[in-house]
Amino acid sequence: QGTLYIVATPIGNLEDLSPRAVRVLSDVAVIAAEDTRHSGRLLQHLGISKPLIALHDHNERGRVQGILDHLLAGADVALVSDAGTPLISDPGYVLVREARAEGLRVTPVPGPCALIAALSAAGLPTDRFLFSGFLPAKRSGRRAALEALRKETATLVFYESPHRIVDTVMDIAAVMGEAREVVLGREITKTFETFYSGAVAEVHAALLEDPHGNRGEFVVMVRGADKSEAGLVAGELDVDRLLGLLMAELP
Ligand code: SAM
Repeated sequence: QGTLYIVATPIGNLEDLSPRAVRVLSDVAVIAAEDTRHSGRLLQHLGISKPLIALHDHNERGRVQGILDHLLAGADVALVSDAGTPLISDPGYVLVREARAEGLRVTPVPGPCALIAALSAAGLPTDRFLFSGFLPAKRSGRRAALEALRKETATLVFYESPHRIVDTVMDIAAVMGEAREVVLGREITKTFETFYSGAVAEVHAALLEDPHGNRGEFVVMVRGADKSEAGLVAGELDVDRLLGLLMAELP
């Protein structure tokens, strides 16, 4: 039986492709790719010529059996997405799940991932974080999603597209307050890499001032709620807050 390799590819800088990723891509029989034209260019750059199978969100269920057949016949297969780590806001979940259900070997070839790269350089707490992918595209849904996370004490991480970044930052200010600290990582590992950080109102102003502020790819990070803001954290008694309330009642 073949092995399914989950191969991370660069999020901008081609030098971030690991030597192991290159070797695996050279050795496998077939490469499943989110966008075969996009990955075809990367492979051409590496001088690798391989049969490619398109595996994107819209056809994943239909394509999985074909890929499993390759693996069951003994061929090794690599899965890549357009950028970064497959399955992280990218296709591949159904394939990995089904491959494991078949008892096949699935192994990661780790490497770039925008959320981890962003967090590692943001200067926000990383001991606990909550990655929530893309926020809803419509304002009402986005605000509702942010409201549900308002009291979360872990650092929040989202992916956002350039044409919604300004609106999303505005919604964070509206729901979580203008003083909440945010960090935006834009075009990470690329020529115009920029980190915007500060109170959300300041970051919003900086984005509007920057002529490139609404261009490129963004990771949005939000400092988690303070314990006092969070109030009672689910299932946990906030002793300090309770004591404060009781003390205020004492004569
Ligand atoms: N699988 C990818 C990963 O491991 O990061 C993420 C794929 S998701 C469809 C694409 C989103 O990731 C973009 O909209 C952006 O939010 C984020 N992203 C990807 N590359 C980035 C970069 N170089 N700088 C900032 N954000 C990036």
